Amino acid sequence: MLRRATTIYRRLRTLSVLGRCPRRHQSISAPERALQYAVGQRIHGFTITEVTAVPDLFLTAVKLTHDSTGAQYLHAARDDKNNLFSVQFRTTPMDSTGVPHILEHTVLCGSERFPCRDPFFKMLNRSLSTFMNAFTASDYTMYPFSTQNAKDFQNLLSVYLDAVFFPCLRELDFWQEGWRLENEDPQDPSSPLVFKGVVFNEMKGAFSDNERLYAQHLQNKLLPDHTYAVVSGGEPLAIPDLTWTQLREFHRTHYHPSNARFFTYGDLPLEQHLQQIHQEALVRFQRTQPDTAVPTQQLWTSPREDHVTCKPDAMAPDPTKQNTLCVSYLLGDITEVFEGFVLSLLSSLMISGPNSPFYRALIEPKIGSDFSSVVGYDGSTRQASFSIGLQGMSEADNERVKRIINDTIDDIIVKGFEEERIEALLHKIEIQMKHQSSSFGLSLASYVASCWNHDGDPVQLLKISECVSLFRQKLLENPRYLQDMVQHYFKDNPHRLTLSMAPEESYQQQQVQQEEAKLQAKIQQLSQSDRQHIYQKGLELLSAQNAEQDASCLPALKVSDIEPTIPHTPIQMGSAGGVPVQYCEQPTNGMVYFRALSNINTLPEDLKPYVPLFCSVVTRMGCGQLDYRQQSQQMELRTGGMSVTPQILPDSTDLDMYEQGVLLSSSCLERNLPEMFHLWSEIFNSPHFDDEERLRVLVMMSAQELANGISYSGHMYAMTRAARTLTPAADLQETLSGMDQVKFMKRVAESSDLTSVLRKLPRIKRHLLNPENMRCAVNATPQKLSAAAAETERFMGNIASTRKERKAVRPHVVQKPLAASGSSATRKLISEPNFQPCQMKTFYQLPFPVNFVSECVRTIPLTHPDYASLSILARLMTAKYLHGEIREKGGAYGGGARMGGGGVFSFYSYRDPNSMATLSAFRGGVDWARAGSFSQQDVDEAKLSVFSAVDAPVAPSDKGLGFFLSGVSDEMKQQHRERLFTVTHTNLVDAANRYLGLGQRTCGVAILGPDNDVISKDPSWVVK
Ligand SMILES: [Zn+2]
Repeated sequence: MLRRATTIYRRLRTLSVLGRCPRRHQSISAPERALQYAVGQRIHGFTITEVTAVPDLFLTAVKLTHDSTGAQYLHAARDDKNNLFSVQFRTTPMDSTGVPHILEHTVLCGSERFPCRDPFFKMLNRSLSTFMNAFTASDYTMYPFSTQNAKDFQNLLSVYLDAVFFPCLRELDFWQEGWRLENEDPQDPSSPLVFKGVVFNEMKGAFSDNERLYAQHLQNKLLPDHTYAVVSGGEPLAIPDLTWTQLREFHRTHYHPSNARFFTYGDLPLEQHLQQIHQEALVRFQRTQPDTAVPTQQLWTSPREDHVTCKPDAMAPDPTKQNTLCVSYLLGDITEVFEGFVLSLLSSLMISGPNSPFYRALIEPKIGSDFSSVVGYDGSTRQASFSIGLQGMSEADNERVKRIINDTIDDIIVKGFEEERIEALLHKIEIQMKHQSSSFGLSLASYVASCWNHDGDPVQLLKISECVSLFRQKLLENPRYLQDMVQHYFKDNPHRLTLSMAPEESYQQQQVQQEEAKLQAKIQQLSQSDRQHIYQKGLELLSAQNAEQDASCLPALKVSDIEPTIPHTPIQMGSAGGVPVQYCEQPTNGMVYFRALSNINTLPEDLKPYVPLFCSVVTRMGCGQLDYRQQSQQMELRTGGMSVTPQILPDSTDLDMYEQGVLLSSSCLERNLPEMFHLWSEIFNSPHFDDEERLRVLVMMSAQELANGISYSGHMYAMTRAARTLTPAADLQETLSGMDQVKFMKRVAESSDLTSVLRKLPRIKRHLLNPENMRCAVNATPQKLSAAAAETERFMGNIASTRKERKAVRPHVVQKPLAASGSSATRKLISEPNFQPCQMKTFYQLPFPVNFVSECVRTIPLTHPDYASLSILARLMTAKYLHGEIREKGGAYGGGARMGGGGVFSFYSYRDPNSMATLSAFRGGVDWARAGSFSQQDVDEAKLSVFSAVDAPVAPSDKGLGFFLSGVSDEMKQQHRERLFTVTHTNLVDAANRYLGLGQRTCGVAILGPDNDVISKDPSWVVK
């Protein structure tokens, strides 16, 4: 006994010594340190139950249980500075009032130790967090954050623990975040009563998205017996049934340590986390028996069919084809880790890429525009599911689609899968494990969340190679292994649902009527004194929202905690076949990342709108000896992906100057470098542009994707449109990625004959894939850099014949040196010295129940001394003014301001019930800033928030990319950094006056939203 105790003591002492000595500390890695924990060891109220090395992911997993409450804990020790914390609760509602979602919002509104209003949003400005958020899933609620700063980690941990375990849950918070009846104008008791509330509006916005609506219906109907039958986020019409008491009761029973799972990740010591969690929260609880488990769904004895309706989509590529149909199969329990692994592999084999049986059977005959929004394996519910079907199809094809799905399954059972496709998939898994992302901790937390939530083993889930080898062994033992699985889970499975969805002309109107009926029912029950009470509450909420806020209880980093200098990114310039190449040595873990930027200065203007389409098809139509199926197969077998995207890169010194191009991006394992370059060579030398049918499939999928994206990214479209008339770069941005592009693609998708488009592709190719206009970048390990250089050289030799000097279309081309290092290589920018910025107000009337509003102002370029002030001003106005006006008072999901690299200062709102009031709030924000009634503390907080974005972690694959694309060097970044540090209160007021005051600079406005009376009567608006 004694001896053992001594050994442990000595070991602990060694550890603490290591902890104090930074140099020694570095010599032993975080995963190695964690391996020294022993099962049974007790630390700060926790007991270690498992210690496992996971070499695939370079981490050690440590599992613990909290002794007195039973709280579960998983730590992933890994040498990554971007440390992450998350706590998740199993939240399994039994109605659609959105109680877990509203709770997720309200716990963040103030807590025992931090009783100020909205500590969560305030911490965004008091920390250097790299991520802060909260999610409500169908059966759990998760609160994650990450940061690279140890002090910040402790601060955020205190705030998060207090928020979830000891929230105030004030009635006013419930009113603001959940729902309330309130006078339309809170100050006018005679104005009509309406529903308000952040979650209420958020969910109205969410369900205006037909894809989201369909997914919700499908889950509710496939798993109808328990919590999955309801809407955890809240069904807009059911939200007003929730009471404040029910909310607090749900918190008491669900947000308890006995129902909690903690996860930490990174290189910070585990002991410290445990101590803080134990002392600040868990020590105050006793164990309970939470009744939150999800029972297994009773399996059906025969398949079911159902039908739902949705709103018509004004942006649909083909208005007569707007139906969705899919078949969803219930699979096994997700806690069966290996089975889940195989089923998700199987799902990829069945649906991914042009070689998969369902792609051939459903996509290629062009019955619909794309797969249904829910497709493939879904492991987010206790029992997983697999769905397959189409969207953008005609109702008349319903039977045909069902038949195809059945026939395809029969066919798979007979034929199985080609061995090469299985290899390609396993290769993809290998790449996913090797690729270093900048938010690995967050990915891990989400990856294990569902399985762990149902008491599956999260550590088992991390042992991916074990699953791969077991899978290979099973295949070897039984070559029909996968086919048998298809027989069992698909062919012989009676628990399957066929769900169709069709638009209904009056859908939107019915929704409005139902909301109105609900509202009137509520109102009819009100007595005169209730009405008076509502009016008083409205005023109370307004005055709370307007009250001077004291956030001094919250912990905060200081500006002096910010690193004064940026780390140097090692870049070497070279050349290959006369093309400049930037090399960046990085710990890429055996991966090589290759990029090339090719400018499009010589492309005729009439072809410009086709550039995004060209980019999306050029790697997907076949090349050289390979047809598009073989090409896809080779890309999956040899690379981590190959893509081409349009790029508009505003100049850092002149608003009327920009570089325009396309960016080729790709990655591969070191051993596959020659194969990857071979594929690029074939795409340059002999791409296939002859298959109109193939082109039509790709065009339809792109147009559908764009149309679906509007309700999700409406604020981006509003900002792009509002900026359009302000700078030449913004004008081009609208053409290539704004509403103009959405409408352009809709027209292309609608045209019955694509031969003219097909004929344009080789013309575009001659201008875009031309080494004459190119520069390249390679990120690889130091050991592989010279091999990569040799391969790049060979590649340039192979494509030399595509090189041709052509004349730029626009007259003013300005050459800028690529690097300060004396290399002769240049970037060729387009200058438009005669560009005249002008005012423009655009309104897109769309069938949404909410608006997306934006106003943009032309200001100054990146290198201007005032740029730093405007960047900080945007954060300051967002945190201290716009958030309060647009979200808290206005009920929008979000709103704020930001400064863009192209010199455009943008205001925006997201899923916003208002339009004109929000435009006034933007102006109000400017007046507020000009009046200068903010404190030094406010300025410091805005600086922290700017720096947390500036210092966001960059993955090894992306290091040096900013310099490669925009020529922004470490020196320029450092100069900007120093300016950010020195910005004063006076500078900010000055910048607001000089750049944002009315009449100071040209601005543009755009709104996407429903029918708007004010706008339709005002001729100064362009209505689209
Ligand atoms: Zn929400």
